[in-house]
Amino acid sequence: MSDAFIEAVLIPGDGIGPEVTGAACRVLQAAAAPIRWIECHAGLAALERNLPVLPEQTVEAIRRTGVALKGPCTTPVGEGFVSVNVQLRKRLDLYAAVRPVRNLPNVPSRFQGVDIVVIRENTEGLYSGIENEVAPGVVTSLKVATERACSRIAAWAFRYAARRGRRRVTVFHKANILKLTDGLFLRCARAVHERYPEIAYDEMIIDAGCMKLVQDPSAFDMLLLENLYGDVVSDLCAGLVGGLGVVPGANIGEDCAVFEAVHGTAPDIAGRGLANPLAVIMSATMMLNHLAETRGREELRRAASRIRTAYDRALAEGLRTRDLGGTLGTAEFTEAVIARLGEPAAG
Ligand code: ATP
Repeated sequence: MSDAFIEAVLIPGDGIGPEVTGAACRVLQAAAAPIRWIECHAGLAALERNLPVLPEQTVEAIRRTGVALKGPCTTPVGEGFVSVNVQLRKRLDLYAAVRPVRNLPNVPSRFQGVDIVVIRENTEGLYSGIENEVAPGVVTSLKVATERACSRIAAWAFRYAARRGRRRVTVFHKANILKLTDGLFLRCARAVHERYPEIAYDEMIIDAGCMKLVQDPSAFDMLLLENLYGDVVSDLCAGLVGGLGVVPGANIGEDCAVFEAVHGTAPDIAGRGLANPLAVIMSATMMLNHLAETRGREELRRAASRIRTAYDRALAEGLRTRDLGGTLGTAEFTEAVIARLGEPAAG
């Protein structure tokens, strides 16, 4: 076992970002996760320091360390700024968006037994942004699919499934209409599946798949989707377990990975000590598991598992922030999680 610290970039972000990322750092420290943070800025926090909305040094630091925990960032509207998230995705080629969605104790939701990982292709499809006005009153938007991008997201999804012991990958598609683009996505997924015979694989036309999802989400294990479908369905899945406030996320590429909560900067409650830090704590836990896998550091997996047990316990005891119907503030909930970390497991 190595005792060396792993460097990771911390982007506190804007609005509630510094409060919730600060809470996550405290939890990781209390769990003895060997992370050394390098603080960098993006969004309004960067502009206030006379830097661009996504400073070069922030991108470089993520390239160098390979990993970042990011708070929500504000991109000013109407002044030609490209969103921080879109820039990060493009600059670092973060092609896989991962969103694990599961029920948490005492978090009100319509369904129980939900445990789904949504994998979304992040780089092409209709989000390629190729739009044209072909004649007055007639506009087109081009959906792009390449064999390279379809194959690598499928390979990523099956590799994830194999490593995490997931049972089934389901692709949602519309290949009955979009025969070439969605057809290619399916062909690539089928080809990759041949290398993973132990993992079940199936395909559903997206409209039927969405109906099944809201009838019985517990029937699904992993979903693999192209960009637009993934964007829509991952929010739908978040809604199945209580909303964006309790769902973590990651954008992952070959060399770098950026972990962040799904919610935004929540300016209405920023700076008031009310924000729920859970989604960022969960994102930081995903980061630890990712580092355990990619750097072969098993102690990080143990730290992640202690943190997950601790927040599950806090929630099970009815300790919740206001957005989940409780009374605790950010600091109180964070302390409640830390108090339930227990002793580190031997080994
Ligand atoms: P942005 O423009 O950055 O997306 P927003 O306010 O439009 O910000 P969210 O930040 O996602 O979108 O917030 C939507 C609502 O959910 C707000 O009322 C906010 O207070 C609440 N909210 C979001 N995140 C949290 C959180 N972590 N804890 C408590 N409430 C939250």
